[in-house]
Amino acid sequence: HAKRNGRNTFAGFEAGMDTDLKTRRELDADLARAVERNELSLAFQPRVGMRSGGIVSYEALVRWNHPERGMIRPGLFIPIAEQSGKIDEIGNWVIREACRQSLSKLGGAAISVNVSGHQLRSRNFVENVLAMLEEAEFPPERFEIELTESILVEDRDRALAILKALKRRGIRLALDDFGTGYSSLSYLRAFPFDTIKIDRSFIMNLANDNSSLAIADAVMNLGRALKLTIVAEGVETIEQLTILSSRNCDEVQGFLFSQPLPAGDVPQAIDGQLSEILRDFGGNSRSA
Ligand code: C2E
Ligand code: MG
Ligand code: MG
Ligand code: MG
Repeated sequence: HAKRNGRNTFAGFEAGMDTDLKTRRELDADLARAVERNELSLAFQPRVGMRSGGIVSYEALVRWNHPERGMIRPGLFIPIAEQSGKIDEIGNWVIREACRQSLSKLGGAAISVNVSGHQLRSRNFVENVLAMLEEAEFPPERFEIELTESILVEDRDRALAILKALKRRGIRLALDDFGTGYSSLSYLRAFPFDTIKIDRSFIMNLANDNSSLAIADAVMNLGRALKLTIVAEGVETIEQLTILSSRNCDEVQGFLFSQPLPAGDVPQAIDGQLSEILRDFGGNSRSA
């Protein structure tokens, strides 16, 4: 189609792509030095137990403070780092740092980290992760890896073997952004996950869209049947929390409880009022 629009339009389109590509190339080059220059940091967001009203664990989310461009979202630089392979080094830094900060600032709380496909398939991933945990003296049982569905679809058998090996060593596995990917429900049975995280897009529309509620409900019921821990991502309102409380949801995470924050600033306990609301729910609906 572009060609039929004539030479100028096509050239203009290409120029646009070039600018974008140029920025991506610059960012990728800058990423090569980001770790050694201490430009990366971690933000932690609590995962809260529906029954207890207490913090169950923290998700570590990477941040990049670029010397000229300021804070860059992981949604922008992670895909660039994945394409060039720099994600392996960044991912190692995230794992080491998350363990270290949990032990020094969060009382050794359980943590989860996001791992991309490139990392999972890197040489000796399983041994590498275990060595980092051992060196940090962080127990594998308190360490969870979050993966998205797309990672499982490419090269399914290899991914399955790696996940089984991680699982054998005591590391927990979570399926992130559930409902947005391509995998079939049979993946849930084949892969050794402990946790499903229902994507924020469903939680966002819980109160005003019946199909989002139906999908969230189906995932929660399935999770319960498969004995998986169900986490709702992106909980922002009491209304969403109320809807989830009467259903098979185990944990909640989102701005309602806390933004992702540096370990020194993130709450170590949930605000009294919210925690009370959760315990009330627990008493009423989760007796089974
Ligand atoms: P994710 O793992 O699904 O993380 C949840 C994202 O939703 C985070 O964005 C978080 O800040 C945001 N969020 C949490 N609660 C709420 C809420 O109530 N409302 C709204 N609107 N947003 C909420 P963030 O930190 O920008 O990260 C985006 C994605 O980047 C992550 O999605 C994850 O896929 C990826 N990512 C982050 N850190 C890493 C990392 O260390 N390694 C890899 N491979 N990927 C990472
Ligand atoms: Mg995640
Ligand atoms: Mg997610
Ligand atoms: Mg997400």
